Amino acid sequence: MFNIDQVITERVLRGHAASAEAHVEWNTRLESFQQDAEGVTVMLRSGDGEDAAQETVRANYLWGCDGGRSTVRKLLGLPLKGETAATWLTADAIVHTNLERDTIHSLSSPSGALMMFPFPDPNKWRLLDTSGEGELEQPEQIARQFSAKLSQALEREIVVDPPTWTAKFTIQQRAVPAMHVGRCFVSGDAAHVHSPASGRGLNTGIQDAYNLAWKLAMVVHGQADAVLLETYDAERVRIGQALLTSTGAVTNSAMADTARNTQNSDQVFIRQLIWNASGLNIAYTDSPLTVPDDEPGKGPRPGQRLTQISAADAQSPGWIVLRALLRTSAWHLLVFAGSGLSTTQDQVSAATAPDWLEKVTISPRRLNGEAHGVWDSDGRVQDTLAATAGDWILVRPDGYLSARGSGDTSLRDALGQLTSLNM
Ligand SMILES: Cc1cc2nc3c(=O)[nH]c(=O)nc-3n(C[C@H](O)[C@H](O)[C@H](O)COP(=O)(O)OP(=O)(O)OC[C@H]3O[C@@H](n4cnc5c(N)ncnc54)[C@H](O)[C@@H]3O)c2cc1C
Repeated sequence: MFNIDQVITERVLRGHAASAEAHVEWNTRLESFQQDAEGVTVMLRSGDGEDAAQETVRANYLWGCDGGRSTVRKLLGLPLKGETAATWLTADAIVHTNLERDTIHSLSSPSGALMMFPFPDPNKWRLLDTSGEGELEQPEQIARQFSAKLSQALEREIVVDPPTWTAKFTIQQRAVPAMHVGRCFVSGDAAHVHSPASGRGLNTGIQDAYNLAWKLAMVVHGQADAVLLETYDAERVRIGQALLTSTGAVTNSAMADTARNTQNSDQVFIRQLIWNASGLNIAYTDSPLTVPDDEPGKGPRPGQRLTQISAADAQSPGWIVLRALLRTSAWHLLVFAGSGLSTTQDQVSAATAPDWLEKVTISPRRLNGEAHGVWDSDGRVQDTLAATAGDWILVRPDGYLSARGSGDTSLRDALGQLTSLNM
């Protein structure tokens, strides 16, 4: 488990936007918009009172990342379907305890269930109280409450310092049935709000955004037809709705003290929570961008994430280079060469490779003069991907595996299936 404060994530995103010369206009509100066949006209208001200014912007597309109360979602008429669940209290605070730091703790107190999530900072924890009804008290009062409840739950004196951040929130378990209407899209909390029990809200929003970003970029740069944008809904609506089920199960489990009366059921609960939080189980198996597997085998399969590897494998010479190459937001064709002089790249290059595809040759011998060559000297890339000489793997810009196979003919077929989407 590795927690990062949301403010740090936002700082990283803002820095990245700045380096890409994307300028954020703070204190500017979208008020309304209209879309037609060619584009979207958006009415913005910036500043307040006498300084307020209105601006009309014409754009090809509109993307609403405007949170749970999304104006874009409401103006598109997309319903946020679901239910309201319990109210919880959360606080980030220093806790004077010697509890194990490398896990989540789920505890029972007479007044309800408590949870503790470690931060990397010394002794800092995110505390969660599932009996959160009533007004939000002052930090000192919240510290006293948590001290008392944790002392009861752990049957020893625990002191909690006044928290640096507190929030009381009513859990909403809701999602939209569609994430775009015409030229307008919604992502993140604008499209799905759910229990924070699995720490998935921000992470799912970022994955929504990444999913749509590369598709929009291909369409805007004329590399794909707008029909590609339909796959955003096809892939992400299901993920948002599945989140309601998985986070709902964790929420119910967290609330049900009796479900965790044994060490065993506690471990099952924690493992389920961490597995959900990792997001590694997300796959696009039924997507139009996934070419089904004729011969299911070992290694990552079409629709799954390519990099499901151990920390040790990630540090192997081949994986270090490959992970760096995969960071660019292009499609990648991984081509596996044998140890002989004639690489299979010649074989695979016979296919009509579109210009949006970057070829990466992975070889057990040192490659000279290859722009995108990976010297897999210890064979760990081949092993973890369960690939042999002559195989190829097609990887999407978001790191998901679109297709895999062996030899030129199967590659041509797979590319043919994708280019039928006008890519
Ligand atoms: C207590 C709590 C704990 C959480 N813990 C975690 C966690 O551990 N891990 C995790 O992944 N997630 C967590 N989440 C969820 C996470 O905070 C949200 O999922 C995430 O912030 C959603 O990001 P977003 O960009 O979609 O929306 P928001 O963060 O809500 O951002 C929307 C932005 O749009 C702006 N905006 C709104 N309307 C307009 C308009 N009309 N015009 C212009 N701008 C507008 C808002 O001012 C805001 O800046 C937690 C949530 C809560 C409440």
